[in-house]
Amino acid sequence: MLKLKSVDTAVFVPDQSDEAFALARTTHMCVGAHQDDQEFMAYHGIAACYGSKDLWFSGVTVTDGSGSSRTGLYANTSNAEMMEIRKREQNKAAFVGDYGIQIQLGYPSKAVKDAASLAVVDDLETIFRFAQPDVLYVHNPADKHDTHVAVFLRCLTALRRIPVKERPSTVYGCEIWRSLDWLVDDEKVALDAGARPNLAAALDGVFDSQIAGGKRYDLAVHGRRMANATFFESHAVDATDSLSWAMDLTPLVQDDSLDPLTYTLGYIERLREDVAGRLKRFGG
Ligand SMILES: [Zn+2]
Repeated sequence: MLKLKSVDTAVFVPDQSDEAFALARTTHMCVGAHQDDQEFMAYHGIAACYGSKDLWFSGVTVTDGSGSSRTGLYANTSNAEMMEIRKREQNKAAFVGDYGIQIQLGYPSKAVKDAASLAVVDDLETIFRFAQPDVLYVHNPADKHDTHVAVFLRCLTALRRIPVKERPSTVYGCEIWRSLDWLVDDEKVALDAGARPNLAAALDGVFDSQIAGGKRYDLAVHGRRMANATFFESHAVDATDSLSWAMDLTPLVQDDSLDPLTYTLGYIERLREDVAGRLKRFGG
């Protein structure tokens, strides 16, 4: 299999194909910071590949899931036990969703946030070179979770190391901690998440250890998607009742001269103009 720098890498191939074969068949890939991130932000890709003979979804979870809250059934588990439980939950989702492969790199969050620690970037580069996904789902750069933003930046660095023609042709920055409803409407990329609501519910519900503490992520993700679809266009009849918003990050990945900070703040500037323009139009 791949030579990765992480010593804690866990690889799971639901259909028991050879690992290298399983990764090479990738068409859609999500790189998320934590266990459950890819189900929340890349359901669009998971659903596109589900049951297909030609399309394969690959999941990459970067961190080890340590330090998460432990209550109820999990109150007396050690940090090490909890990491195992979370790893297992991610693999359960991979099985339910018929993913092509699930890779869990197992890096401590601290290592991901340290821009000087290049092991994470090296491993992501190796994975991207080998898998060459057509469509890639990553955290969006305006997310409010530090580790999410750090994972996005490590992905961008890794992608820019490989030849442009081997980079994904479509890259979505997806919403989790902070929705993307604030993007101006013509810059919202709408990812239809309405296919197979039973599958979406099953995938989100698998992460019991995170939900048990009272945080109903499963319902919240479902509710956000419904709200996105309902509040999108005030006059149109909804074509789907479930949408995830994404930021188009393809230009950033294709053009090394674009600065991620300037690129991201451009969206905020255009929101500012949108709000100001509407107020001014009506006498504000
Ligand atoms: Zn996360």
